[in-house]
Amino acid sequence: MTDFTLNIPDSLKNLLHTNPRKILITTHLNPDGDAIGSVLALYHFLNKLNHEVVVVTPNDFPEFLKWMPGSDNILIYTKRKRTVAELVKKADIIFTLDFNVLNRLGDFEKEIGGAEGLKIMIDHHPDPGDYAKYTFSHTVASSTGELIYHFIKGLSGLDKLDENIATCIYTGIMTDTGSFSYNSSSSETFRIIADLLKFPINKDYIHSSVYDNYSENRMRLMGYCLNKKMIVLKEYNAAFISITSEELKNFNFVIGDTEGFVNLPFSIKGIVFTALFIEKPDHVKLSFRSKGNFSVNDFARSHFEGGGHLNAAGGESKLSLDEAVKKFRDLLPEYKNQLSHVF
Ligand code: 5GP
Ligand code: MN
Repeated sequence: MTDFTLNIPDSLKNLLHTNPRKILITTHLNPDGDAIGSVLALYHFLNKLNHEVVVVTPNDFPEFLKWMPGSDNILIYTKRKRTVAELVKKADIIFTLDFNVLNRLGDFEKEIGGAEGLKIMIDHHPDPGDYAKYTFSHTVASSTGELIYHFIKGLSGLDKLDENIATCIYTGIMTDTGSFSYNSSSSETFRIIADLLKFPINKDYIHSSVYDNYSENRMRLMGYCLNKKMIVLKEYNAAFISITSEELKNFNFVIGDTEGFVNLPFSIKGIVFTALFIEKPDHVKLSFRSKGNFSVNDFARSHFEGGGHLNAAGGESKLSLDEAVKKFRDLLPEYKNQLSHVF
């Protein structure tokens, strides 16, 4: 995406450049680094334009993102339902970042879906819905963080970039590209990173805060999963891990602890398709990852009411954990040919 520009209609520029507005920024359920990085970068920027800005996440987010500048000000819908409902009602403008269909908000959808505020989507997932008045949907971007940079640039606001905004955008891009490995084939991504590094941000501290900030329990859960729970299906170049709620309890699971587990089997030679099944109280959470041209987005959409990107997707199942795993295993023969020619 060389020379990419985000064209912002004059009507929206006027809206953001004239009077202060009440602005609410939100993102998807189970926010990841790109989600929190994007909402906080936009939060800091819009504050500098003198708007009244609040950030709401549908549910809690992991400890390894709670060091981020502004994260203390985030309101969590599941903990502050009444306050948040009032703020949604009052909002003139609602930014929805890093997702493109309202059901990714979980229970928070019922507030945002009915809200009167003008909705703006900034996102990089395929097949956007049409709920927003302004839709900035670009799958070429590595991350929503990258698009926030372009959104700021489109508003002629690059002179407002600062250490906080740079830190948040950097974190979004870093986490959604697996520390600049996948998703980052565009030179534009690195041009933006180079620009961000002009500010006194501490990239070693950022990396360490995200990736070296886990509990001992999480590390031991990972070891247990690799030793006892990972199933490798060589004939399909696939591997998966399934975790029961009982097992999570045994390792004192807290939100964020299974982050990254779905990628672990890729260290095995030949593996191109991985899955992670996690038993939640009323559903099974699924994560899928692939290498090359095998689309886990299509796979999740077709079979598990989910979606995502070509190489990273997720979904949910109302089946039991064992049944969801069985459904997955039974589907593999259908994909055997595709899975042997992914590059
Ligand atoms: P994760 O496996 O890390 O939860 O999600 C990986 C990717 O799949 C993310 O881009 C995320 O937005 C997407 N994703 C995860 N869960 C769901 C889901 O339930 N529905 C849809 N449509 N996308 C999901
Ligand atoms: Mn993202």
